[in-house]
Amino acid sequence: MKLILLGPPGAGKGTQAEALAKRRGLVQLSTGEMLRAAVKAGTEIGKKADAVMKAGGLVSNEIVIGIIAERIEQPDCKNGFILDGFPRTLPQAAALDKLLKSKGTKLDAVIELKVDDGILLSRIENRVKETLAAGGTVRADDNAEALKSRLMAYYRETAPLTGYYFAKEDLETIDGMAPIDEVARQIDAILAKVAA
Ligand code: AMP
Repeated sequence: MKLILLGPPGAGKGTQAEALAKRRGLVQLSTGEMLRAAVKAGTEIGKKADAVMKAGGLVSNEIVIGIIAERIEQPDCKNGFILDGFPRTLPQAAALDKLLKSKGTKLDAVIELKVDDGILLSRIENRVKETLAAGGTVRADDNAEALKSRLMAYYRETAPLTGYYFAKEDLETIDGMAPIDEVARQIDAILAKVAA
């Protein structure tokens, strides 16, 4: 099973991808997590991505496509994967199509988590509070200023992907405002339909 979770920052993609990966034995591929790891490790990619990420911008297509192309070649991706935070631009979506085609495979589903814009800031604020309460480190881009840029990048670059996948008849949209368990149930229902 190969699928994409789409949605703005704070929509719950990471939460759902992590839970779904556990339920189904799939690999969660979060480009955000991979980039944060690269920044922490001080790699060349990390050095290039750091400032852009802190400001809430998008890292170059070239870099993230390269990361994903390499990652999906790994043996643990054979069973399938959940893309969380990739693709984020139309060129990334086109590159993914090409990549999967060259491997003789394709996506099984693209699931959009639809949420009210007004709730996103409070969701990010909650994530910060929960992280701090758990003694964790808050993401450098989880603040009001960077969130504004992340939302602008989302609406400018990523929102058109719903149209792209709708036209390809891959898109399924669910209510991301529902409680976490209910969203998970809706995702499972879509995957059951796809598998049938
Ligand atoms: P995320 O953890 O998905 O919210 O991603 C955090 C940040 O990493 C984003 O705000 C971008 O700066 C960068 N990033 C993650 N995935 C991508 C992508 N597919 N394309 C460009 N930038 C990305």
